[in-house]
Amino acid sequence: MMVEYGTTVFNKIVGHYGPKAACPNCGKEYQTDFIKSSKWGHFCYIPLIPMGSKYYRVCPVCYASMQMKKKEAKAMMAEYPSEAQELVPVGYVHKKSKTCDLKLEDRISGQEYPILQGASKAEYKKEKKDRLYKKMQETVTED
Ligand SMILES: [Zn+2]
Repeated sequence: MMVEYGTTVFNKIVGHYGPKAACPNCGKEYQTDFIKSSKWGHFCYIPLIPMGSKYYRVCPVCYASMQMKKKEAKAMMAEYPSEAQELVPVGYVHKKSKTCDLKLEDRISGQEYPILQGASKAEYKKEKKDRLYKKMQETVTED
């Protein structure tokens, strides 16, 4: 019998925290998304042993990321809790041209930020995966 063991990393968006500040990369001013990255030792692909976690803050628009100390992350989460989520990812799948668009909509200001335009399904899937978008609004169009 083959026994497989090793480590797996799970990344999850835990919320958006911290003071609103302009992103050093794109200049957009939002609370940053906090990503918890947990490492697990697995045995036959069953995660069994927690091996610690790290936190990253990412700009919700351009996804520029910054690693944080766990303590710093926890302090910021307590001090500047999540406000109502303003930015919502929206996907469009165009059936005929087999292209996809991905954008972020600011539900308060109405501002839109295009992320992908005319992308292939594979690119679109990868971007969604990289941005850890699990459940998001998606519209399928006939064009
Ligand atoms: Zn940014």
